[in-house]
Amino acid sequence: MSSLEPALGPWPTLDAVREEALGCVRCPLSETRTQVVFGVGHPHAGLMVVGEGPGAEEDRQGIPFVGRAGQLLTRLIEGIGLTRDDVYIANVVKCRPPGNRDPQPVEIEACRPYLQAQLGFVAPRVVVTLGNFATKLLLETKTGITRLRGQEFPYGAAVLVPTLHPAAVLRGGGVTLAQTRADFVVVKRALGREAAT
Ligand code: URA
Repeated sequence: MSSLEPALGPWPTLDAVREEALGCVRCPLSETRTQVVFGVGHPHAGLMVVGEGPGAEEDRQGIPFVGRAGQLLTRLIEGIGLTRDDVYIANVVKCRPPGNRDPQPVEIEACRPYLQAQLGFVAPRVVVTLGNFATKLLLETKTGITRLRGQEFPYGAAVLVPTLHPAAVLRGGGVTLAQTRADFVVVKRALGREAAT
């Protein structure tokens, strides 16, 4: 699979991307979803967070990261002095994989233009990838998240910082929480530095 780069695609605006995604039937996930979970937040955020795919609560509400993992993500964002409204939050796939299974390659491929366009229109200075899925896709690597987390990687005109997925942090306990908090400090530093350039 090739890396996923920011690209505006055929759409004139981010709202136009959303409109198309909300009616999307490009892959089989459209048959089992309740709602498309497109993305939320500041349309020109300095920080964009990319997760894997909606869970049950996100599928119900149509908003990313509103379940237990989402509440932890919100605390991590607030821990570096930002709010959810300051950042843009999206997922690799916009529809819930049944039973929270991993997204399949055809589903990721079908959804790829939407995420590329979100990255292109928001044009963040810093991208945080949560967990293996988003990290491997955006960085085009097979290296696992435990080796990559907390480091800065060039990503187009932005800096990309991988960290653990908050669902994994909920399972992993104190050490993983401390690691993820440390990764967000790296994010904060990168944001401060990129703002000055
Ligand atoms: N996990 C994700 O990867 N994304 C969500 O939106 C919720 C949980």
